[in-house]
Formats: sequence, structure tokens, C-alpha cells
Amino acid sequence: MTYPTESRYSRQSRFAPLGLDGQRRIGAASVAIVGCGALGTVQAEILVRAGVGRLRIIDRDFVEWSNLQRQFLFEESDAAEGLPKAVAAARRLSRVNSEVAVEPLVADLTPANIDDLFEGVGLIVDGTDNFEARFLINDYAVSSGIPWIYAAAVGSYGLKLAIVPRRTACLRCVYPEPPSGIQPTCETEGVLAPVTAAIAALAAGDALKLLALGPEGVAARLTTVDVWTGEVRQTSPPARDPDCPCCVQRDFVHLTGQRRAPISLCGRNAVQIHERFRPVDLADLARRLGPLATVRANDFAVRASIDPYELTVFPDGRAIIKGTTDPAIARSLYARYVGM
Ligand SMILES: [Zn+2]
Repeated sequence: MTYPTESRYSRQSRFAPLGLDGQRRIGAASVAIVGCGALGTVQAEILVRAGVGRLRIIDRDFVEWSNLQRQFLFEESDAAEGLPKAVAAARRLSRVNSEVAVEPLVADLTPANIDDLFEGVGLIVDGTDNFEARFLINDYAVSSGIPWIYAAAVGSYGLKLAIVPRRTACLRCVYPEPPSGIQPTCETEGVLAPVTAAIAALAAGDALKLLALGPEGVAARLTTVDVWTGEVRQTSPPARDPDCPCCVQRDFVHLTGQRRAPISLCGRNAVQIHERFRPVDLADLARRLGPLATVRANDFAVRASIDPYELTVFPDGRAIIKGTTDPAIARSLYARYVGM
């Protein structure tokens, strides 16, 4: 295909703070987006249209009908085919900008594969939906000196924070441990497309600024947005924790896998997740899952049938997911319905 290359990015490079130099740096950059859902699809589309050199899209899920309300790159045919999100996104993005090398990777980010998945990447953008992945990304980013952008949304509310190792607080300065208890998830609380799009756009803005101007270019402010109340807030930069186990003590427990909930196949067509460090309130979980699944609960477990799967969750956080032998699917279901 031929087209006038010069004019393609002219509206962006004409923006003085970015300029032609910034555009060249964006074009030379390699970026990874982890999670290609409501946040990741918008982040990916903005970065591809902006002309980032190489974009790696890492996602473990398939397109479902319930994604189409907010995941901008996907179409009905993707859901009908059950395409992996990374593949469906890459197909669409290749039609948006064929100059960008988009690499779809259908994978569950783990301590074992993280070095391979992030090889050669200079910036990581968070499109995930769970803290387990974010703590893993944070450990990797801090240990490698690579900036990353934390982004999250649920309901009508979302937030983003750019994290630049050695310059800003890291995720563990802000959250020393993963939040305890059951976390609200998009499955249990719902989520509005305007907030995921807004947070993804803000995160992509930080990404372009980091790529064009370097680490000095980004103010590490925590930005929160609520599209229902209309409240938008910018907090002052979170303080670095002088005792942070990650960016000060450099004890990368998530990267070494010490904090990862081990997974095992248990019998036929079922996967067990041993989540030992976060007890679950079964009554609360049953109440949250009630509108979404056929739920049976007692003092010992909550069992939720979510066709074609059945989740059984125990008070210590352990769960058995029937209906799959794929640990990535089990982990995904656990993250969605129990929270991580
Ligand atoms: Zn830290």
C-alpha cells in the first residue's frame, strides 16, 4: 500500500512539545501492553495510530459478547469466532496502521515467561484486570529499570499512575501488599465504556510523553476519574516508601514466583488454584455472584455455575474450576469472579 508518509503523523508532530524528534522516538520505540480488554484495546489503538515502532500485545483471553460494549477493537465476528483477543486486536490494528509491527502473544504473563514476553521492550502499559499481574509487572519493571503505566477501572471509576523506576514511587510504595479481601471486578460490579476509554486515553498520553520526552517528561500524579459523578482528581505524586520492599530493598518476591498462587490440574477437566494468602468472605462472595450465576453456598464453600464452568471457592481463597484444563482460563475466571 502506498500513502503519503509525511502527512500521516503531521498533526501529532506539529504539536510543539512532541515535535519531529518526539515522533522519531515514538517510531523507534517498543511497547508492550499486558491485557487487551477495555483498557488495552484503546491504549493499543492510540499507540498504533501514533506510530509506535513495535507493539507487543499480551493477552490470555478470547473475545466474548460481553466484551463488545467497551472493547473498541473487537467486532461481533470476533466474538462469534471466539478469537483470542491479542489476535483479533492485531488483525484490526494491521488495517489501522500497517507501518507498526504488532505482535500478538496469546499468553498468561507469569514469572516463568516474563523475561521472554518483555524482551526488548522499553515501556509497559497496564491493560490487566488484577493485582497479581500488576505486582509482577512492577517487580519486572523496577528490576529492569523500565517505566510502566498502572491503569485500572471498575464501575464508573478509574485511575492511572505512571511509574518510572528510580524517579517515582513504585506500585509497592503505594500498595505494599495486594489489597486484601474480595476486590470489586468488572464482572461483579459492571463497568462503563466511558471510564475505561478515558483512563486508557490518559495512560496512552503518559506513554506518548514518556516515549517522546523520556522519563523526565512525566509527572507521576495519580489521576482518578469518575464518569458518573463527573469528578476528576489529580493527587500530588505518591511518596516513595523509604523501606519499599521492591524499589528500595529490591526484594522481587512476585518476580521470583514466591507470591504467585500455584496452580495444579486436579483430576479430569478441572484446575485448582491454591491462593493461600488471601482469605475470602464466602457470604460476601455468594452475594456478589448471585446475580451472575447459579450459586450454592454453605460455610465450607461457594459453588457458582457459570456456563460452561463451575467455580468452587473455599474460605482460604483456594478454588477449583471445573470445565477446563487450561490454567490460564482458570486464573482468568478466578480474577474475574473472585478478584486478585
Ligand atoms: Zn517502591
